[in-house]
Amino acid sequence: MNDSVYGIDLGTTYSAIARISDLGAAEVVPNFEGDSTTPSVVYFEGPGSVIVGAEAKRTALSDPDSACLLVKRHMGTEYPQEFRGETYSPEAISAIILKELVNAANNTTGAVIDKVVITVPAYFGVQERESTRQAGVIAGLDVVGIVTEPVAAALSIGARSDQAETIMVYDLGGGTFDTTIMETREGAVEVIAVDGNRKLGGADWDDALVDLIIGKFVAAADLGDEDPRYDEEFMLDLRLEAEDAKKSLSRRESVTLRLSFDGTKAMVEVTREEFEAATRHLLAQTIEISRRTVELGTTKRPQLSIDRVLLVGGSSRMPAVKAALKNELGWEAQDTEFDLAVAKGAAIYGQAAVDEVLRTGDEAAPVDVAADAPGRPFLPGGSASLTVKNALSRSVGIKFARDENDAEGYISFFAHSNDAIPAVPEPITALTLSEGQTSVELGLYEQAGERESEALADNRFLKDAVLALPKPMPRQSPIEIAIRISGEGLVTVTTTDPASGASVDLEASVSVLTEEQVEQETAKVSTLLSRS
Ligand code: AMP
Repeated sequence: MNDSVYGIDLGTTYSAIARISDLGAAEVVPNFEGDSTTPSVVYFEGPGSVIVGAEAKRTALSDPDSACLLVKRHMGTEYPQEFRGETYSPEAISAIILKELVNAANNTTGAVIDKVVITVPAYFGVQERESTRQAGVIAGLDVVGIVTEPVAAALSIGARSDQAETIMVYDLGGGTFDTTIMETREGAVEVIAVDGNRKLGGADWDDALVDLIIGKFVAAADLGDEDPRYDEEFMLDLRLEAEDAKKSLSRRESVTLRLSFDGTKAMVEVTREEFEAATRHLLAQTIEISRRTVELGTTKRPQLSIDRVLLVGGSSRMPAVKAALKNELGWEAQDTEFDLAVAKGAAIYGQAAVDEVLRTGDEAAPVDVAADAPGRPFLPGGSASLTVKNALSRSVGIKFARDENDAEGYISFFAHSNDAIPAVPEPITALTLSEGQTSVELGLYEQAGERESEALADNRFLKDAVLALPKPMPRQSPIEIAIRISGEGLVTVTTTDPASGASVDLEASVSVLTEEQVEQETAKVSTLLSRS
């Protein structure tokens, strides 16, 4: 039995893979090209042949129709995409990336490892987590765990001392923003509060910079009636240039771009000050969310005070981020290995899982780690075991009707975002609606928007089940609903008719793909050849 495991940060724009070295430290394994990170881009070169990573990203520029970028945004949804006459689910495309990462890592290390832990954003709900797990299965991997990105970041950089600390992870990536407050102590991480905005990220800063640049270009160049904003190719090129310019502005006070449109050329200079002024409203949103996360944390821990703030995600490199955290919240935020911390933390989590010293609160029996067991160098503080306690990312509820005529219904939540998990919420007693009812239908829903809302449209349907009643029941007969939520956020609901003892289980480890589809996608992906 191989007892090694890879930790994989399956990112929206970049991915990375890590493992625990022979010396017991987490290390990132470079890919075939020697890079620590691999662009999460798949290029379908021809029937049965794909390219993954930097070369795929380069090739995608000249042939965008055969390339798949940003697939992570579609995880947990039905979003088939067709390339070279074949249809692929988001899970299958993610599987191609995972396979490439593992093959490259095995090639570099000379190992044959197929066990992995994959990270997901803290805001991922039940369906997206299950999709991620299925991507691993389609890639032929043994997924020993799914861990959230901030917990992974905390494991590799945060939870280091033997003192208890309260850590805030500020994660501003390419397309999303997340904040997480965690309590850490030797060998233990507990999530206290999670918040964020799924639609706020580096791409918004790019947009603002594009606007700034184009305004200056139009003012400087004599373009007559022509407006370059309507020229698709010009705008595509400008977006790429703007992202590079943005990165330069993290190091330099100003950048100069040479632009050309329809034969007219002009130089455009943008200073960091101008860029920061044009994006102040975006940064303000992250500060507001950070503040809100602290308020949320304070409701659970009245004495909460943040000891350390860790910057994660490529966009946290912008100097304005650190300055705003200092000026607005009084925090001295700390740089991390922005792109590598998450993969390393996943490796730590994975090694603890395969070594059977990981506790998530779900274990049937307590993990037996002797008090005098030797410490493990890869674990925070060199402790002997690792405890990770999560919080629920989204509220979960059941659909109820107000009365017989309420066809639409509403969602009654039994667990709320940020509740500590695993959890066994209070059982619910429901009442049958009509006289002579012979079955009860149970629909399980998850909060879809940023806030909890009773309206059906604001929630995402997860799964339903029907409990057949052995005989017609009088109106208002009680039905018992018992709920359990695992440490990974999977929900199990048991509905029982107390009169007959009949019951039905509903497990919301819901996935978009059926088992049969997973098999089909596995077969499809396994025949692809990757040219690296
Ligand atoms: P991630 O998803 O964490 O890899 O973050 C990618 C995002 O970080 C993209 O929007 C990049 O443009 C942005 N990014 C990477 N490096 C820098 C930098 N030096 N300054 C500003 N943004 C950056």
